[in-house]
Amino acid sequence: MQGENDSGQTDFLQPSDSEIHAWMSKAFDMASDALENGEVPVGCLMVYNNEIIGKGRNEVNETKNATRHAEMVALDQVLDWCHCREKDPKVVCGQTVLYVTVEPCIMCAAALRLLHIPFVVYGCRNERFGGCGSVLDVSSDDLPHTGTSFKCISGYRAEEAVEMLKTFYKQENPNAPKPKVRKDSSSPPGGDVVIQIKPQDEAKETIAPLS
Ligand SMILES: [Zn+2]
Repeated sequence: MQGENDSGQTDFLQPSDSEIHAWMSKAFDMASDALENGEVPVGCLMVYNNEIIGKGRNEVNETKNATRHAEMVALDQVLDWCHCREKDPKVVCGQTVLYVTVEPCIMCAAALRLLHIPFVVYGCRNERFGGCGSVLDVSSDDLPHTGTSFKCISGYRAEEAVEMLKTFYKQENPNAPKPKVRKDSSSPPGGDVVIQIKPQDEAKETIAPLS
């Protein structure tokens, strides 16, 4: 995917259809794994020189950390990969393609810019938080001091990505608070324990973040 232009600088060429097909298939496997584990189904891979150097799926509910999107998990692995091999992350990221099942959100799109990722392939649009055109255009806007813009190929297996999201949101929210066990204040110390269970409808108000 690399070539040289007239000035001798390295150009980054866009991935071929067969590469997109192969890598997105693995990204969808990651998204399925997220769905099976009660996470918003988004999966991604980061590929450098035909090698996966980072992969991730949403870990927001598992870690109770709203920033643990698939892309952030994968980016951490890429930085570790570079550190272990004493490679410059700026050089490696500048030649790495991100494959993700859902359009990166605004936060992730900004992180991808700051790390100089040149190319993103994604499935469906992220209508609520998308940073590659759906809500803001972090990927291609002229943003001073915010890394480099990146190109996107969108719509790959988009319907399938949307169906997975719908399946997740139809399920009971796994992030809802658990029933609480409280001591009855009228009981003497060490007395009977009263279990108070929160109504399900109240618990459902918590909405899991998308990508
Ligand atoms: Zn994100």
